[in-house]
Amino acid sequence: MERTKFILDEKEMPTHWYNIQADLPEPLPPLLHPGTKEPTRLPPPLFPEALNEQEFSQERWIEIPEEVQAIYRTWRPTLLHRAYRLEKALDTPAKIFFKYEGTSQAGSHKPNTAVAQAYYVKKEGFKRIATETGAGQWGSALSMGAMFFGLECKVYMVKVSYNQKPYRRILMETWGAKCVPSPSPDTKVGRDILARDPDCPGSLGIAISEALEDAFARDDTKYSIGSVVNHVLLHQTIVGEETRKQMEMADAYPDIIVGNIGGGSNFAGQFLPWIRDKISGAKPDLRIICVEPQACPSLTKGPYTWDYGDVAGLAPILKMYTLGHTFIPSPIHAGGLRYHGMAPIICHLYKLGLVEARAEYQVPVFEAGVKFARTEGIITAPEPCHNIKVAIDEALRCREAGEAKTILIAHSGHGHFDLAAYDEYLSGRLQDYEYPEEKVKEALASLPKV
Ligand SMILES: *Cc1c(COP(=O)(O)O)cnc(C)c1O
Repeated sequence: MERTKFILDEKEMPTHWYNIQADLPEPLPPLLHPGTKEPTRLPPPLFPEALNEQEFSQERWIEIPEEVQAIYRTWRPTLLHRAYRLEKALDTPAKIFFKYEGTSQAGSHKPNTAVAQAYYVKKEGFKRIATETGAGQWGSALSMGAMFFGLECKVYMVKVSYNQKPYRRILMETWGAKCVPSPSPDTKVGRDILARDPDCPGSLGIAISEALEDAFARDDTKYSIGSVVNHVLLHQTIVGEETRKQMEMADAYPDIIVGNIGGGSNFAGQFLPWIRDKISGAKPDLRIICVEPQACPSLTKGPYTWDYGDVAGLAPILKMYTLGHTFIPSPIHAGGLRYHGMAPIICHLYKLGLVEARAEYQVPVFEAGVKFARTEGIITAPEPCHNIKVAIDEALRCREAGEAKTILIAHSGHGHFDLAAYDEYLSGRLQDYEYPEEKVKEALASLPKV
């Protein structure tokens, strides 16, 4: 009998995060200060010192603090599955594996960094943490992380998701956090936007600006970000490091790794531990495919340039593929993929030709999600449905070519709070959004002058 899932014992959980900066063929571009446009650290009042160090560290391995490991062990190691039923349904010779992060208490990969960030905030003596959230996954993960370390937590949630997904707010409140719809009247950024456009659906960029303003204003508060920056991608590498051990148990090595990219953290957490084999020349043919929505295609359509991480221009300026910090994407269900830019690490690797990118429409993406539910049983969040779509395309290509490739899907979370989106799909009401070329052109006109 062949094995369906690959189980690591708690004792085999990796004890170190992997820092890709030690192995990059060229160093990352610097962060620029939003005022002076000079290279800068992360703004010290916003972030714990330990995270600022991790952001720029060149150490290859960074030890996971014992207190963080102890909380990781409440749900980690997560399982690696072989998707036999999906393979059979596709009649493909490809071997399909997926690493499933939906079994954390919050239902996604996000607690991997939320727990670490809350730990450092507490350790450095602060009491409160402020953040933004898109679809609510990050806000709920941080609420849980803050709970474990006894911190207060304030979450600014993108209004369109706040209204579409009340259950995530209830999760946050159950874990003890305070959650408000963004733009909110609690900050100047929010009040200004509401004055111009009371019906503004919000965006991740706006919510980031509100959380930054909150944290700048209070001495007892640190800011926390769920994706994009280097230290977040670092914390997520526990996922890929576990998967490497599990693929070894399966006696397999991936030809293709596929994942969705919103800010880029979950997929980077899976592929960074593998890409070092491509950089070193050991696995030159390894393909890494980043999947984004057609409604917000930063890698596939945006220019590689300097842009603010947030709408108000309070955050550092990053070198990234961007649609412009003032761009507000259509309200697709994959709320976690509605960010105007992309993690600088992923942009750098894309520029160097080490990763590929593809953009998908949401109707075929949900079609793939339903196929996955009807074969593997798991109801998938809209974000990882994107990579399942591409994995299926690749598996069908293997069928045409008669090639038994090994495909690894980075499965970032379950869709139990996204059932309204499945309902829309199943009843034929779900619509695709075209790439909004005019809106992007407009947003690109307000890039910072560097
Ligand atoms: C937040 C989220 C994403 C997108 O964020 P990344 O930082 O790109 O990983 C993807 N999948 C799930 C389930 C999420 O919660």
